[in-house]
Amino acid sequence: MSGDALSQDPAELRRRIDSSKAHPARVYDVFLGGKDHYPADRDAAAAALAANPRGYLDVRHNRDFLRRAVTTLVEQDGIRQFLDIGTGLPTAENVHQIAQRIEPGTRVVYVDNDPVVLAHARALLTSGPEGRTDYIDADLRDPARILEQAAKTLDFDRPVALCLVAILHFVADEEAYPLVSELLDALPAGSRLVLSHLTEDLNPENIRAVQRTYTERGFTFVLRSRAEVEKFFTENRLEIADPGVVPAHRWRPDDAAPVPEQLEESFLANLDDIEK
Ligand code: SAH
Repeated sequence: MSGDALSQDPAELRRRIDSSKAHPARVYDVFLGGKDHYPADRDAAAAALAANPRGYLDVRHNRDFLRRAVTTLVEQDGIRQFLDIGTGLPTAENVHQIAQRIEPGTRVVYVDNDPVVLAHARALLTSGPEGRTDYIDADLRDPARILEQAAKTLDFDRPVALCLVAILHFVADEEAYPLVSELLDALPAGSRLVLSHLTEDLNPENIRAVQRTYTERGFTFVLRSRAEVEKFFTENRLEIADPGVVPAHRWRPDDAAPVPEQLEESFLANLDDIEK
């Protein structure tokens, strides 16, 4: 475990965290049932929820897709290294907990550009003695820096699963495709790409209304079609695993997948917060 992320100057961190503005990591945390958010984040979540009343389900389905993808990669594909960019707040189980439960020697490098996530890095650096985790405070749009830092923990001669889960909608096309290629070019044969993305293929009116709630707050928010998501794989000569690019909850559902009623229940507590 590297201590760099833990030696942040608290004053500097406070300067970078603006509680008067919505931070995507905290807005997402509201939907996930976390506790780390401010009125501006709850406001943004409420606006997104008004635009798409069942949006909180998408978030939970997305997070559960991440669990199933990591489980499959470790259990069935023998992957032992993960580069998880756009980690989010450690509210739900994170990649290293999921992977190291199955294979304790798994190494995980987390990357996020939100200082709110950095402030919680300690919770992400709890690897068991056999594995390793690290946290890099960096922007997805700076792949060279991410690769350089990640090489301290990951062995780029062995396969790595690159996780870009619910992050690429924050990056415009002209940057998104080249940066994914740059990251994948650095990984050896046998590596994997785990990707989820918001789309307007389904429920277009509501999703476009959600998009407006983000762009009004100054965020880049790109919706991509199934073909545009597939392009991240095909452009980099990656085979798309079965069952292909599908709604997150349809990707290899298992017995542990939460059912909508349970999700609804766990969301209600935060809904109270949102209404305040
Ligand atoms: N991957 C997690 C969290 C998704 S929320 C999950 O699917 O459950 C999106 C995360 O991406 C947030 O934590 C946000 O801070 C981060 N993020 C957004 N734009 C980013 C960028 N350009 N570079 C790094 N992280 C970014």
